[in-house]
Amino acid sequence: MHYIDVIIPIPLQKLFTYSITASEFDFIKPGMRVAVPFGKSKIYTGIVYRVHNDAPTAYDAKDIQQILDETPVVNQKQLKLWDWISSYYLCTLGDVMRASLPNAFILESETMVSKNMSKTIDESILKDDEFLVFEALSHQSSLKVQDISNILNKKNVLPVIKRLIEKEAIIVEEEVYEKYKPKLVRYVKMHSFYSTEKELHQLLNDLSRAPKQRDVVMTLFSISAKTKKPIKVSDLSAESGASSSIIKSLIDKEILEEYYIQIDRVQYSGEENEDSKALNNHQEQALAEIQTTFKDHQVTLLHGVTSSGKTEVYVKLIEDVLKLGKQVLYLLPEIALTTQLVTRLQNYFGDQVAVFHSKYSAHERVEVWNQVLLNSAKAKVVLGARSSIFLPFDNLGLIIVDEEHEQSFKQFDPAPRYHARDTAVVSAHIHQAKVLLGSATPSLESYFNAQQNKYGFVELMHRFNDVLMPEVELVDIKEKQKKKRMKGHFSDSLIAEMTQTLADGHQIILFQNRRGFSPIVECSTCGNSPQCPNCDVSLTYHQYRDQLRCHYCGYSIVMLRKCDACGSPELDNKGFGTEQIEAEVKLLFPENKVGRMDLDTTRGKYGYEKIITALEQQEIEILVGTQMLTKGLDFRNVKLVGIMNADNMLNFPDFRAHERSFQLMLQVSGRAGRTEERGKVLIQTYNPYHNILQQVSTNNYSAMYKEQMDERYNFKYPPIYKQIKLTLKHKDYNRVEIAADWYAKSLRQVFKDNILGPEFPPVARIRNQYHKNILVKIPKKQSLAKTKEAIIKINNSFFNIKDFRSVRVILNVDNY
Ligand code: ADP
Ligand code: ZN
Ligand code: ZN
Repeated sequence: MHYIDVIIPIPLQKLFTYSITASEFDFIKPGMRVAVPFGKSKIYTGIVYRVHNDAPTAYDAKDIQQILDETPVVNQKQLKLWDWISSYYLCTLGDVMRASLPNAFILESETMVSKNMSKTIDESILKDDEFLVFEALSHQSSLKVQDISNILNKKNVLPVIKRLIEKEAIIVEEEVYEKYKPKLVRYVKMHSFYSTEKELHQLLNDLSRAPKQRDVVMTLFSISAKTKKPIKVSDLSAESGASSSIIKSLIDKEILEEYYIQIDRVQYSGEENEDSKALNNHQEQALAEIQTTFKDHQVTLLHGVTSSGKTEVYVKLIEDVLKLGKQVLYLLPEIALTTQLVTRLQNYFGDQVAVFHSKYSAHERVEVWNQVLLNSAKAKVVLGARSSIFLPFDNLGLIIVDEEHEQSFKQFDPAPRYHARDTAVVSAHIHQAKVLLGSATPSLESYFNAQQNKYGFVELMHRFNDVLMPEVELVDIKEKQKKKRMKGHFSDSLIAEMTQTLADGHQIILFQNRRGFSPIVECSTCGNSPQCPNCDVSLTYHQYRDQLRCHYCGYSIVMLRKCDACGSPELDNKGFGTEQIEAEVKLLFPENKVGRMDLDTTRGKYGYEKIITALEQQEIEILVGTQMLTKGLDFRNVKLVGIMNADNMLNFPDFRAHERSFQLMLQVSGRAGRTEERGKVLIQTYNPYHNILQQVSTNNYSAMYKEQMDERYNFKYPPIYKQIKLTLKHKDYNRVEIAADWYAKSLRQVFKDNILGPEFPPVARIRNQYHKNILVKIPKKQSLAKTKEAIIKINNSFFNIKDFRSVRVILNVDNY
């Protein structure tokens, strides 16, 4: 007997064994998709994990329903990586599968077919089984794949469905077997009839009374003489100035012939490639050092200040790897994946560059997936956000993780709660590839690894062209308030700098770490502030829509006109967000063009790009934004950066708050003065003597590192200790309390003092679920595997208690 173990995209710990026939056994390979029955009536798309001959002992293996692929869509190296992710991040292989595969690859059991109403079918052309299905569809408007299976009394019905589609008798409701459809482009050529001089001559004569049509034919000739490539209908129409109806009439008259070519959606339309830039001495040296470290390190950290030209160094490394015929993965935080960078890389590498990120459609993702899988020339360099770590690389030579300190590399929800940087290191290990981590403000984790000589370490401390680092000035707003030198949230110093910068014709970026108008609306009479009914937070005022909104669950209501509690009309705005800063700027600088960049203004595929382009084109003179601004943008003309309030970042209740504030402020500062003229940064704060602010103003990474590491050491935080955060969720407050106490007590029996909590987080209720956290701290010398084993054991006992079954437990390894 033959069997396969299958990964099913559901959060159940184990693999499921199915039986297969001898011929299926010869055909099936790990990494192929199979449709399998599950439970009473469900069908899932699973991934074959192992093919073997061992019957399961606990249950009778069911038969598979059908094989969905001719060749594997997931390779062995990926399956290895999946294994690691599932065991390291304490999630199931099904979770990893769901996160990895493009949605379009996952056939659901709910797949529907129905009769093609736009066609009358001669039933005599249908074979018996086809007819049965066709007939059934006359009585029922649609059928599931499973129903068809029952009607025909066999499991593999795909071929029947396929034939019926080809005969145009049925349509598969959209997004069915392959949700993916390649994009087709319409081309034209001369009809084959006109292949000789003589016929052609005749044609042009005939057309002399239809000059527009004649023009089209002439244009077609001149284009094909020039390019010798297929000619798109759209190009022909543009060149000849003829409308599409004229072209259509030529097609109808069989003078032209139309045809379709499948093209890749994700494609490069650039001109010739250019050579990469010659490096300056500092870059040369950094490159040489990186290459040396790669001799005995798999991973190297490049600490290079903003605008030092890290990207050009990456480009040289990429060139070397491409010469070896290997693939390169270039990982970036989602938001840093701008056209600016894509264009820059395409200029060097042409259409060897493929891009993969969440704003791409399902189709585009499948295309990139397939190109990577086939090691195609079109995806030698993949530029992607977090999830591109899951692409089916086969021959990876190098992974670059740019802005490696970015917390958005860690997936927060849902499982797998993986860190793309750390996963990249493991993936590189599987491929025997190298990893370069790059940042102007490395994470303490990576810097620590470099200090321990676990990673190689290279510095690039000169800005390109020796442009000076911006001058940083701290503005004490407590002092300014006392002296009445504030206008709204703007100090007189900031206003003066802004006025000067604008007068010089330069641009300004203002950084405010919050979106919305003012986070909190408070009644001046009774102090009440409107709360979200689902979460324990105050609602945020959004002036643009005149709404109060919850940033946790999306709940919104129209802005109140009077206090809910006491009826007083005096509602006060406390705190401030991007929208309010924008409004204030417009009042202070009514002559200037102001833009805003935050989650609200960058929705949609090109939302973010539009704002960047407007800034590049100098259609915006002052840009107000959240941390989106910090990411690798290169704006020549920005000379002033204002940080509206440093304190709300510094006071955030998280052990990483100081590290992050340092990174954020230094990264935003890096946007100022990237060319010859020195830029300036103004930081407004109530506490100018804060160490972090001092370290930011002197650009002193190592002082920050040293001080923060002392704290991490004293309080047993990462990277000194590892940690796993457990979150228990339930709609009943008491149940969460009791469950969390039980859980923490059990953990304490094993891990003693290394358990913190249970504790309610600052926002204890989100979407009507109460949250309670427990933290497990893991000393470096304690076995991680054993620790996890113990946690899983406790977790299993937990769910054996009836009262706790409805509690959700989230395990977050290396939580951020
Ligand atoms: P980083 O990534 O370190 O912030 P970039 O790679 O974006 O820096 O470089 C900053 C600017 O300097 C870019 O506009 C880039 O084109 C330019 N630059 C960097 N290195 C070179 C070089 N070797 N020759 C010419 N221009 C360079
Ligand atoms: Zn009130
Ligand atoms: Zn809410």
